[in-house]
This record gives sequence, structure tokens and C-alpha cells, in this order.
Amino acid sequence: MKCRHCYNSLENVFLDLGFAPPSNAYLTRNKLNTPELYFPLKLLVFDKCWLVQTEDYAKADELFSSDYAYFSSISQSWLKHAKTYFEMVQKRFSLNKESYVIEVASNDGYLLKNFVAENIPCLGIEPTASTAAAAEDLGIPVIREFFGVELAKGLVEEGKQADLIIGNNVYAHVPDINDFTSGLKAALKPEGVITLEFPHLMRLIESVQFDTVYHEHFSYLSLTTVNSIFSSVGLRIWDVEELNTHGGSLRVYGCHDDSERITSKNVNQILEQELEYGLLDNTVYQEFQLRAERVKNSLVNFLIEQKISGKSVAAYGAAAKGNTILNFAGIKPDLLPYVCDSAPSKQSKYMPGSHIPILSPDVLKARKPEYILILPWNIADEVVEQYSYAREWGAQFVIAVPELRII
Ligand SMILES: [Zn+2]
Repeated sequence: MKCRHCYNSLENVFLDLGFAPPSNAYLTRNKLNTPELYFPLKLLVFDKCWLVQTEDYAKADELFSSDYAYFSSISQSWLKHAKTYFEMVQKRFSLNKESYVIEVASNDGYLLKNFVAENIPCLGIEPTASTAAAAEDLGIPVIREFFGVELAKGLVEEGKQADLIIGNNVYAHVPDINDFTSGLKAALKPEGVITLEFPHLMRLIESVQFDTVYHEHFSYLSLTTVNSIFSSVGLRIWDVEELNTHGGSLRVYGCHDDSERITSKNVNQILEQELEYGLLDNTVYQEFQLRAERVKNSLVNFLIEQKISGKSVAAYGAAAKGNTILNFAGIKPDLLPYVCDSAPSKQSKYMPGSHIPILSPDVLKARKPEYILILPWNIADEVVEQYSYAREWGAQFVIAVPELRII
């Protein structure tokens, strides 16, 4: 297999999680007796450009055949994040009625609705029909396609170049990252700005966040790598911020390489940090598998100990992260009998691979588990607060990543 950025042969394995079904392929009861599709879940890294990427496998398109769609507006904290971002860019780039804003992967309009409210012309690009329809209901124009050079050129022909192009949590999900980045360049006005948010590979490695790995997530990115992808198409990163979303993300600011914008010292600072951490050296990548296995083994050990001593454990949060760790660890309903989730769309379904049933959080009060394992550790504080009544019967909250801990 060749690197998706520099096309050199990939030989170094960063992480091998075995085989797993797509993380969003939740099962209905009548599907439990039919075979599931498993795909290899393996990450490779090239030791020059340092792009960490999923291994190619056959039938990748079947991954996206699932009718499950994630609606961004479900998460209150994400809506708040979007609003804060809007206020910041409106001010920083003096956006007004004359401006033009494009968001790639605009989902259900969770972000662009802020621009519409202030009469700033905008366009969403979103291939998922159900979320695109929700955005259109909010008055946001949407093109229902995947973004790349071809689409960008079409926009330019229609005179639709942007002052601001936004990509929140889409960059890591793009199979052809070079084509996507060239598209950004093509659709950008001469002094326009691109902002992209993506999980920071350095935080993933530091906090052993191997459970953020899943098939639909093609690339795991450092600033070093994104910098080189941007340069290769004639774009320049002129500023960068660290965010605490998704276990630690970066927000990069891009412009044309001949733009008048001055490059902030933040860019060099984070590039230096990555160098010091060892992101430009194979050792850090080679050690990761063993660190992930240690976390997995501690969780399995914990569940077996509770089983032997007759204590009950429930899980909370039927998120993609949960599926990755449960399938890697081979955990089934004998060790973890149910997962609670507040999303009605998931309730009464089963986790892919592990077949653990997903129930409403109401069952916690009836079953009074002794431990509640929070699978999406990134929202652990919210979960503990929301279900603090479980402490009344002596329940303890547990997270497994970066190490097994009672919180
Ligand atoms: Zn490469």
C-alpha cells in the first residue's frame, strides 16, 4: 500500500486492532442472527511525512451503506463550541453581508445557522441526505456531494469563491486528503482563510487514545504532516490553536502561500513541541501497540474480577469509541451485560460485533449496578454529573482510557 499523501510504500505498522465491523453499524434485533461484515482495523505510518493512516481494504464503500447518521445538533456542548467559533471568526475576519462562507461537512447546520442569523452568505457541503435536509430547513443552501477539486472548480465557475472555508472534524475522515486539500485551495479567494479542526495525533499518542481509531477515520494528523500537505498544494498554515475537544484537537488557519498574512509564532511552537515529543522518530510509533494492549488488558482484568466477585457492571455511552475498545478486547455481554445511551435512535439496538444491548439510562435506577463504565471518556465529567444519583446506591464511575481509573 502507498501513503495517501506522498505515495511512498507503507511498511510500518503503528497500531493493529484486529478486525471489527464499522463502528456505526448498530444492529436491530432481527439482524442478530445474520453474519456481520468485519474489516481490518490497522494503522500504518510513513517515516518521512509521518501521516498515520488506515490500511486499505476491499469493499470500503460498504462501510457507508449504514443508514445511521450522526446529527451534530444532538450535542449541547458541540453547539456551544460552534457558537463560540462563529463569534470569534466573525470578529477576527470582519465577516459581513459581502462575505462568502463555505462549510465542508456542514451536517445538520449546527454551525452555519449562526451565519444565516447574521445575514452572512454561506453554503454547506454535505453528502448525507438526512442531515443536509435538516440544514436546508434552517435556510442554509446545501450541495449534497463530497468535497474535492472537481466540486471546488465547479464552485469557482459559478463565482463562488470563499472568504472563509470551514472544515470541522472532516479532514481526518477524507479518503483522498491531497485532492480535498487542493479543493480547499481552488475554492479560496486570494486573501481568504481556511480553518480546519482535527484531533491532534500527539494527544492521541500521549493519552493512549487508541479507541478513537475506527474505519471511517482515515488519517491521524500532526501539525508537521498537515503543514507538509498544505505546502504541497500551495497553501500555508499561518496560525494554529490547541483545543480540548475530542481529547485534544488542533485548529489550523490556512491561506494561499503568497498571502500577505504573517505566520504566527504559534505555528513554530507546536512544530517544535511535536519534534521534542518524538513525532519525527519511529520509536514513539513503534511503542504504541504495547501501550494500547496494556489498557485493553486492564479493562478485561477489571471486568473478570467483578464477575468473579459477583459485582454488577453497566456501561454508559454507545459511542464509536466504545465499539473500538470492546471489539479489540473481545468483550461480550457475559462480562458487560448492557450499555446505556440517552439517544433514542440507538436504544433497543445492539453494539456491532459485541452484540451488547443498548438500553435507556432509566434502567440504571432499576438495576442499580455497582460500577458504571463510561466508554466516551471525553464526556466523563458530564456523565458523572448527570447520573450522580447513582452514587446514592454506592455506584462507582470508571473510565478505561488512558488507564483504568475510578473517578
Ligand atoms: Zn507519506
